[in-house]
Amino acid sequence: MVLQHVPGQLSGAARVLERCDLLGRISEEPGRLVRRYATPAMREANDLVGKWMREAGLAVREDAAGNLIGRRGGDGEKTLVLGSHLDTVLDAGRYDGPLGVIGAIALAERLRDRELPFALEVVGFADEEGLRYGTTFLGSGAMAGRFPPAWLKIPDAHGVTMRDAVAAFGGDPAGIAAAARRSGELAAYCELHIEQGPVLERRGAPVGIVTAICGQTHAEVAFIGEAGHAGTVPMNARRDALAAAAEWIVAGEALARRRSGLVATIGRIDAQPGARNVIPGVVGMTLDVRHGSDAVRRQAVGELRAEAERIAAQREVELDWDARGDTAAVPTSRGLQERLAAAVSATGQRVEHLPSGAGHDGVAMSAIAPVAMLFVRCERGISHNPAEAVSEADVAVALDVLERFVSDLA
Ligand SMILES: [Zn+2]
Repeated sequence: MVLQHVPGQLSGAARVLERCDLLGRISEEPGRLVRRYATPAMREANDLVGKWMREAGLAVREDAAGNLIGRRGGDGEKTLVLGSHLDTVLDAGRYDGPLGVIGAIALAERLRDRELPFALEVVGFADEEGLRYGTTFLGSGAMAGRFPPAWLKIPDAHGVTMRDAVAAFGGDPAGIAAAARRSGELAAYCELHIEQGPVLERRGAPVGIVTAICGQTHAEVAFIGEAGHAGTVPMNARRDALAAAAEWIVAGEALARRRSGLVATIGRIDAQPGARNVIPGVVGMTLDVRHGSDAVRRQAVGELRAEAERIAAQREVELDWDARGDTAAVPTSRGLQERLAAAVSATGQRVEHLPSGAGHDGVAMSAIAPVAMLFVRCERGISHNPAEAVSEADVAVALDVLERFVSDLA
């Protein structure tokens, strides 16, 4: 197979980065990047990306939820979907999401004159981050038939319901459920995304193959002791909830470090009553535990809880453990992992595998298609931050890998 590059033009990767810059200027707010679902900024983003899709020879439409879809190929053909999301977090970087959409357009351009035995779609999902309505995988969920109609009643911070926002955006709130793709209609869903972590950089690899999107356990954990006077209650007579929490946090960190790939985070802590001269009586915390294997994650959560119980008993404080949800890990397709690995090898790169600690649209899409994901190394692992950066050389490797991957599927 011959890789085709048009000489004398900006290289494919350079153009992808240039377009990520251009798209990164489209924001709801001056001075920082934020594009929430179904806002005028998203309209402008969809219009610009839709123009690039047409220039790559794709027929462009938007589905009822506002997902942007560029397609080549006949009706009824099995479809390979390449894509990611076009919405952002608050004060976002330029690559989380857009890199996967714009990279897929570059790929469609490269494959433009090649016959493929399947239809090819590039999708820009309208909402992955859930910033406006607090939803999870709104865009890809709609495509995968996982859109709960009750979401349409959710108001945003200004009282605008999702139903009104979708209609104002040009979507069709009543048609979202019917717009879902059927299971079996898609050959595969493949997403290119920045890693959003430091693993590939540490391994010295430009790209990595995602083995699974990690499952997550969330909980609200509280130690309940007794508030008291900081001057009069002796140390051996205290039931200090914050000291118990501190012991548990450090023990939990050690426990998580002993398991490869496990991450456990106490992201928020609140000590009551919260005064210099009062022994903390109640301390509440959030717990977030993730791993690519559900069995490993569940066992670790069990051990974290047992440790909290042990500490509570020893310190004569109470433990309140409020489970706030549990999502299963989503393994990517083994077969597609192998094809990606062959494509990485063929570009002369070392094959690296890693799980994704972050959630991605592939979680929703796994309901209707085999899923593949390729990560691109990002500078210092920084993401959800305007300092997010990828190199042109790494993006070039990713595009070569994906071109070989699609050719191999064909
Ligand atoms: Zn993302």
